[in-house]
Amino acid sequence: MRIGYGYDVHRLVEGRKLILGGVEIPFDKGLLGHSDADVLIHAIIDAILGALAWGDIGSWFPDHDNAYKDINSRILLTKVMSKVRAEGWKIGNLDCTICAQAPKLRSYIDTMRTNLAADLDTNIDNISVKATTEEGLGISGKGEGISASAVVLLNTKES
Ligand code: MG
Repeated sequence: MRIGYGYDVHRLVEGRKLILGGVEIPFDKGLLGHSDADVLIHAIIDAILGALAWGDIGSWFPDHDNAYKDINSRILLTKVMSKVRAEGWKIGNLDCTICAQAPKLRSYIDTMRTNLAADLDTNIDNISVKATTEEGLGISGKGEGISASAVVLLNTKES
């Protein structure tokens, strides 16, 4: 059994889509980044890589590599998971928190969980996605960006 933690933040800007957990969310701004800037999936990837001491998302998918320009982050997650499975690991459970002052995310959470369960090859009951604000304080609270953190437990396939 291994545990991992991931954290990420991206800047909110005009002229970009807002994509969280593979769900496109209607909003007047989106997250800036080399990929689709899906901050939730980036935190999850770092949690999985962290659990196995496999480095971080930047070492796997460099942000100067044009292969990853505007890429759907679900593809990156799927690439990581194929190696995780090949090395004999499976998801135990995943718990995540998104910090965003706006928009309200509640109605999109279950679609995010469905996407993540599919990409992580696990049951939706093993996937928790929560959303909170930071009460108007700091990066997310002032609407400058959105952050996400994730904790994941991996088990060996035999367990
Ligand atoms: Mg990122």
